[in-house]
Amino acid sequence: MRSDAGETVSYGGSPQAERPLGRSIQRGLLCRCPNCGTGKLFRAFLKPVDHCAACGEDFSHQRADDLPAYLVIVVVGHVLMGGYMLTDMVWRVSPWIHLAIWAPLAVLAAILTIQPIKGGVIGLQWATRMHGFGGEDDTFDPKNDPGRGGPIA
Ligand SMILES: [Zn+2]
Repeated sequence: MRSDAGETVSYGGSPQAERPLGRSIQRGLLCRCPNCGTGKLFRAFLKPVDHCAACGEDFSHQRADDLPAYLVIVVVGHVLMGGYMLTDMVWRVSPWIHLAIWAPLAVLAAILTIQPIKGGVIGLQWATRMHGFGGEDDTFDPKNDPGRGGPIA
């Protein structure tokens, strides 16, 4: 008879708190702290806070970089292209009218979606303990980087 049935077994290192991926991304998409869900994730447009005001979680490790922009292009591009193709089937209008409608909509949709998507990316990085979110040092030393001529450990 097994006494450990249903228990999660983990190997190596000290036990770490659970960081559910879906919940963390969802809280990030709502521009809230992925840890507590109440503190604000951004102090200004696209500027993440260094620490959560509610729980003190450190967000200086975030490296969202270009991923939010790529995701905005994928999401907004597909939605607007679908909208353009659907309306083009119903109303036959000049391409200039389509341009006048869809270009401003694309700019507006990108501005409205990039901050929530960046929050979701930060939630993803936090949940998967990327870039120092797991507690390890993420400072970069070029002298110790084998990819740039440093010693190979
Ligand atoms: Zn928090």
